[in-house]
Amino acid sequence: MAILRLNRRAFLAAAAFPFPAPAKPDRKTISGIPFLRIRNGHSNRRLLLIHGDESTARDTLIEHMKSAPGVAYLIDSRTRTVRPHLLEIDPNRMFSSPGAAASLAKLNASASPAAIQRETRWLDARRHQLLEAILPPPGGLLIALHNNARGYAIQSEAPISNRVHLPSPATPHEFFLATSESDFNLIDRGPYNAVLQSDAGGPDDGSLSRLCAARAIRYVNLECALGNRAAQSEMLKWLDGLLP
Ligand SMILES: [Zn+2]
Repeated sequence: MAILRLNRRAFLAAAAFPFPAPAKPDRKTISGIPFLRIRNGHSNRRLLLIHGDESTARDTLIEHMKSAPGVAYLIDSRTRTVRPHLLEIDPNRMFSSPGAAASLAKLNASASPAAIQRETRWLDARRHQLLEAILPPPGGLLIALHNNARGYAIQSEAPISNRVHLPSPATPHEFFLATSESDFNLIDRGPYNAVLQSDAGGPDDGSLSRLCAARAIRYVNLECALGNRAAQSEMLKWLDGLLP
C-alpha cells in the first residue's frame, strides 16, 4: 500500500511537469558576442535577452525556460553595450550596417571614421551568425525581453506605430511591441498595453524589431520597468499561452 501511494505521488509529480527538463545551458560566442543558450524541448519559439544590464528580464527568462519549450539566447554580459571586436556597440543596434555604424560612432567618440568603417565591415561579415542563431524557423515566433529604467514608455512608441492598444494607461512602462498583425489582433483582446509596428519605416536604427518588421518575421518585444519581475513573468506566461 505504501509503495502504491509512493507510485501515485511520483506519477502526479511527473504529470505536473509534462516537459522534459531543459538541457544544460551552454555558452557560445556569436558574431563576437558571448551568449548563454538554453534549449528546452522542441519548439519554433525563440527567446532573447540582448541587453546585459536588464537583470529583471534575464531572471524572468531563465525562470520561464525551466518549464516552457523553446530556445533562449541570453547575452553573457552585465553591461548594456558590448565589444565584439575592437569597439563598443549597443547589441540591439547591430542588426543592420547603418544601425551598427551609427551606434559605433556614438559610443566611440575618439575613433576615426576609418576605424568606424572597418569595425562596421567586421560586423557586416559576421551578422549572419547572429541571425542564424536567434531568428525562428519560418512561421515561428521570436520573443525579446527588455527592461526600461530611463522614462521609456509606450508613449514613445505610439506615434510611430500602426496600432495602439492601451487598456492600462496607469502602467505605461509595461507593454508589448509586435511586428505581426495577426499576433497583435490576439494581444489586442487582452488586458495588457501593446503597439503594432509592422512597417519598417523611418531611418534604419539597426534594432531587431526593425529587421523583423522588414522581413515579416513574427516578433514580440516584452518591455517592462526594471525591477517589475511580477509583471514581466505574468505577461510572458500570458503571451506564450496566447500566441500560436
Ligand atoms: Zn533593452
